Amino acid sequence: MSEVQIPKVVNLSVVIPCYNEEEVLPETIKRLGQLIDSMIEEQLISEESSIWFVDDGSRDKTWSLIEEASQNTLFRGIKLSRNKGHQYALLAGLENADGDVLVSIDADLQDDISVIRAMVEEYYKGNDIVYGVRSERGSDTFFKRFTAESYYRVLKRFGVDVVFNHADFRLMSRRAVEALSDYREVNLFLRGVVREIGFPSTQVEYARSERFAGESKYPLKKMLALAVDGITSFSPVPLRMIAVLGFLVFLFSSFIAAWALWTRLFTDQAVPGWASSVLPMYILGGIQLLSLGVIGEYIAKIFMEVKARPRYLIDKCVGL
Ligand code: UDP
Ligand code: MG
Repeated sequence: MSEVQIPKVVNLSVVIPCYNEEEVLPETIKRLGQLIDSMIEEQLISEESSIWFVDDGSRDKTWSLIEEASQNTLFRGIKLSRNKGHQYALLAGLENADGDVLVSIDADLQDDISVIRAMVEEYYKGNDIVYGVRSERGSDTFFKRFTAESYYRVLKRFGVDVVFNHADFRLMSRRAVEALSDYREVNLFLRGVVREIGFPSTQVEYARSERFAGESKYPLKKMLALAVDGITSFSPVPLRMIAVLGFLVFLFSSFIAAWALWTRLFTDQAVPGWASSVLPMYILGGIQLLSLGVIGEYIAKIFMEVKARPRYLIDKCVGL
């Protein structure tokens, strides 16, 4: 007789980056706590499972709320030395949480937490990475929806492989997280890197709701920075576009030059031209500055990568 196979239940860690989230945290702590408790009860995940909050240098009561929550053994806290940004806070959580399976989710309850159950089920079916994908964006403003969706299209054009309408709500197995740690890049665009890893993966859909409370911690400036990072950390296409543009301008100028020479030498129509000398100056000047800007963006990336500074520093932990 063969032994009865008891499926091994996994130790799940939920990782939540928090930046000035005092308004939503109490509710997040309550709802996630209930969910994980019930999943433990159903023996979907093991009793060691835990919820990890990463305080990304908040200036409000976020850390004291985390400390308070950590009196319950379900909750752990990691405090970064300063505000490093969402992507690094997330990385800090993923690299330090101890689960066999890790789910990352935002603090603001915009993503449907009950989907975590479906994600874990997909993991048991053999997937290393499960992407949470928004089935609709009804709760976002028109502006956010439009810019986000156009952005995904631009990324695709530039050859950056991302999952459409997937943010950073996803499940990763321990080996996927270990692979992620091997990507040492300082300019971190997690959505792109995780996609690069490969491994068996799948998607689960959910409807995204509104922020439970508080303001978005992604003002336009941070959003634009992330958007530029997404392209320039992954795609050399903009650099090549400069070369193509340069070539086209060169072709065009050659024709103009030939025409000008011909007019000067073989006709008597050569008038002292103002427009024809001033326009190319503006156009070329514009193109050159733009091109320099694009090249500069890449040089800035190289500069940051060469220094290879630590991507985050941990100040202290609670609940470990
Ligand atoms: N966040 C962070 N550091 C930052 C900015 C944001 O850890 O510098 C966290 C924030 O607390 C939240 C998540 O990243 O858990 C996503 O931010 P938010 O919900 O404000 O972004 P949005 O949904 O508006 O794009
Ligand atoms: Mg949000």
